[in-house]
Amino acid sequence: MSKIAILGAAESGVGAAVLALKKGYDVFVSDMGMIKEHYKNMLNEHGIEWEEGGHTASKILDAEEIIKSPGIPDNAPIVAEAIDRGIHIINEIEFAARYTDAKMICITGSNGKTTTTSLIYHILKNANYNVGLAGNIGRSLALQIAEGCTYDYYVIELSSFQLDNMYDFRANIAVLLNITPDHLDRYDNDMQKYTDSKMRIIRNQEAEDAFIYWADDPIIKAELEKYGIKAQKCPFSILSKNGMIGYIDNGTYTLETPTPFNMEQESLALNGKHNMYNSLAAGLATRLAGVSSEKLRESLADFQGVEHRLEKVATVGGVHYINDSKATNVDACWYALESMTTPTILIIGGKDKGNDYEAIRELVAKKCAGLVFLGADNSKLHDFFDPMGIPTFDTHSMKDCIEACNKLAKPGYTVLLSPCCASFDLFKNMEDRGEQFKELVRNL
Ligand code: ADP
Repeated sequence: MSKIAILGAAESGVGAAVLALKKGYDVFVSDMGMIKEHYKNMLNEHGIEWEEGGHTASKILDAEEIIKSPGIPDNAPIVAEAIDRGIHIINEIEFAARYTDAKMICITGSNGKTTTTSLIYHILKNANYNVGLAGNIGRSLALQIAEGCTYDYYVIELSSFQLDNMYDFRANIAVLLNITPDHLDRYDNDMQKYTDSKMRIIRNQEAEDAFIYWADDPIIKAELEKYGIKAQKCPFSILSKNGMIGYIDNGTYTLETPTPFNMEQESLALNGKHNMYNSLAAGLATRLAGVSSEKLRESLADFQGVEHRLEKVATVGGVHYINDSKATNVDACWYALESMTTPTILIIGGKDKGNDYEAIRELVAKKCAGLVFLGADNSKLHDFFDPMGIPTFDTHSMKDCIEACNKLAKPGYTVLLSPCCASFDLFKNMEDRGEQFKELVRNL
C-alpha cells in the first residue's frame, strides 16, 4: 500500500487524511503544534495514526508523497529534508482535485480573494448552481470529496502558499486579481518569487478555459508577456475599455463576454474602487459559467459583503466606525483609505511584514485627521508618520485604542481599523482583532 504523510493537522490536513484513507493509502499525520480536539476526534474516528508536538522523521520520510499544509514554509527542517530526498510535496487542493470532475473556478491575488470568492459563490448559489466552496475559505475540499459531495462547480480561494505546491491542478476559470507585495518573508524577500507563485494559477489551463485578470496591474501586465497563455483571456479594468472584456464606462458596469451585460455602477452592493475590480472579476467568472444576466444583476446588487472587510459597524455620536481588520498589508489599507469620504482616524499597526508605508503617505496626508497606533511595538510607525504632523496616539490594547479614537474623532468623522499589519502580536488572529473592535464600538 503506498503511503502518504500529512504535515499539519487542521482543516486541510485532516480533510486530506480522510480522503487519502478512503482512496486506500496508508496515512500518517504529523503536526509540530497541538492538534485541536475536533480534528483529533476526526482522525481517531477514522483510525488514522497521528502525532503532535513534533515530527517523527522516520514515519514521514518513507512516504511516496507528502501533503503539506500551506502554513508550513519550505525551510521547516522536515520539509527541507523531504525536498532533499526528492519526495513529491503537494497540497490538499492538488490532492483532492484528482478525485473530482467538478469545474474549478479559482481565485488568487494579493488582496480581494475572499471577497471575490464569496461573491462568485453567492452569484452561483443564487442562480441555483450545484456549487461548493473551498480553499482558504470554508471546509476542506478533500473532506467534501471524501464525504461524497458531487458538485458541478467548486469556487476555490487560492493563496500563493497553496499555489506553490500545485503541479497538475487545472483551473477551468482562473481569476488573478492583483499582485502587490505581501508575505515576502516566505519568498526570500524576492518579489519575483512571490509573483511566480501567483502566476501558477494559469498552469495547465487549456484553450477552453478562461483567464480573468486585472489589466491595470503593472506586475500582471509585465508577467503576461512571459507566458504563452492558452486560455481565453478576459482582462478587466476601471481605467480604460480598450481591449477589455470587463470595465466601468461612465458609471456603467459592463461585461462583453459571453454576451453584453451592463448595469449601473451605483446598483452594485459593494462600494469602493477595489470592489469594482472584485465585482468585475466575479461577473466575468459567473457569466462565463453560464449565469443569466438577470441572476447576475440581482446577485451583484444584493450581496451582503464579508465580515472584517470594510465592514460598517455602527455610527455612535455621529462617528462612523468601520472594521477592515483583514487589511493586513499596505495595499489593502490604501484601498480602504481611498474609499473614505469623511475625515478619518486610522487605526494602524500590529505585526509588520516588512511594510513600506510610503505607498499610503499621500492618502494619509489627504484623508486622516488622526492616527492611532495599535501594536506591541509601534516604533516603526512613529518613525514614519510622526514627522507628518498628524496627531498620533500610541496604544497596545483595543480598549486603549478605542479610547484614543474617541479623543480624536468629531461628529462626521470615520474611525477606520485598517491596520496594514498582521494581528498576532496582540490578538489571536485578524478575526479576534475585528471582533474586539466591534464589541467595544457597540458598547460605546
Ligand atoms: P484576501 O482574501 O485576498 O486577503 P479580502 O477579500 O479578504 O482579500 O480583503 C482583504 C483586504 O483587502 C480588505 O481590507 C479589503 O478591503 C481589501 N481589498 C479587497 N479587495 C481588494 C482589491 N481588489 N484590491 C485591493 N484591496 C482589496
